[in-house]
Amino acid sequence: MFNHADFDGHERVVFCTDPDTDLKAIIAIHDTRRGPALGGCRMWPYASAEQAVRDVLRLSRGMTYKAVMAGLELGGGKSVIIGDPRTEKSEALLRAMGRFVNSLDGGYIVAEDSGTCVADMKVIAAETAHVAGVSDKPALGGGTRSGDPSPSTAYGVFVGLKAAVRHRLGRYDLDGVRVAIQGTGSVGTHLARLLHGAGAELVLADLHAERAQALADELGAEAVAVDAVFDQDVDVFAPCALGAVLNDDTVKRLRAAVVAGAANNQLDAERHGEALRKRGILYAPDYVINAGGLIDVAYERSGIARDGDRLRQHIDGIAGTLSEIFVQADAEDLPTSVVADRLARHRLHRRH
Ligand code: NAD
Repeated sequence: MFNHADFDGHERVVFCTDPDTDLKAIIAIHDTRRGPALGGCRMWPYASAEQAVRDVLRLSRGMTYKAVMAGLELGGGKSVIIGDPRTEKSEALLRAMGRFVNSLDGGYIVAEDSGTCVADMKVIAAETAHVAGVSDKPALGGGTRSGDPSPSTAYGVFVGLKAAVRHRLGRYDLDGVRVAIQGTGSVGTHLARLLHGAGAELVLADLHAERAQALADELGAEAVAVDAVFDQDVDVFAPCALGAVLNDDTVKRLRAAVVAGAANNQLDAERHGEALRKRGILYAPDYVINAGGLIDVAYERSGIARDGDRLRQHIDGIAGTLSEIFVQADAEDLPTSVVADRLARHRLHRRH
């Protein structure tokens, strides 16, 4: 494990098994120097334990970088439950997971992620206080909403996308700017509505074609097949589905000038950051642009979630952080992903 390509100095990696519920899970705590490690719990039918290990380690390190770049007093961690969320999730299994989280005494704070939801976190909360994203709070547009952080994630992507368009295309508004969104799930749907409200023209694709089509009908957008989304004649490509979408095949095909979306671990490998730069495509580093949800749950935990204005202002800061990265990357002819990693490591070490 210590020599694993993605180990990267993790503080703790906990393998959890519970024979009564068949729970198999891994909790990875990358870095707690700035605060407890907050990160989602992903449930996914990984084909092998090795795949689960790789995923949790990469995501966990990403959370450390995300928290420090978002200016939060939090560390980075993540957990994965190996199993199909549609058929293998049960209250007993989630409670067993909650007991493992509790055994870490607050070193790891769990939240929802792909395959888990607010309702699942409420079950986990029966076993541990170290859970985020469960209580109702003010919505950015007024009223209240559930603990689901995806509207805040989408809002952060929206302001980050605007900063990227400003930098790369010199445009201060989104009127008529064409954006292709890959994945119209929780974040993609909120993002599409924000972009539509700002006058952008949308192309949508989702594995569940009917989901993309319904949203396209609502917003007067175009729905395309999943594989066609990379080839669209658009200004911005917004990946809001899975990781590793920017790879040897897709980077060549993109016609967009900007990549700005919510998905975690968008680059298949580090070299794809350079491949994007070479093609003149401005990449908004994933863990910087998608930090809105983390900022949201951090505010919820610290009790200032009631202050919607402060939350919004903090998320607005994503635009400034990205602009700083874009300017430095231009000045040094470096990929934005390299500059973001360097800045994150610098900020992480500066304080300690
Ligand atoms: P979600 O599960 O609600 O939505 C994902 C959508 O992508 C689904 O509709 C799915 O059908 C679709 N999809 C899957 N594979 C696809 C493919 N190959 N092509 C097109 N569509 C495909 O998830 P979400 O909460 O909207 O999150 C989206 C991404 O953003 C994930 O990568 C997640 O890790 C990341 N993210 C989410 C948040 C959050 O607050 N929810 C925060 C940070 C990062």
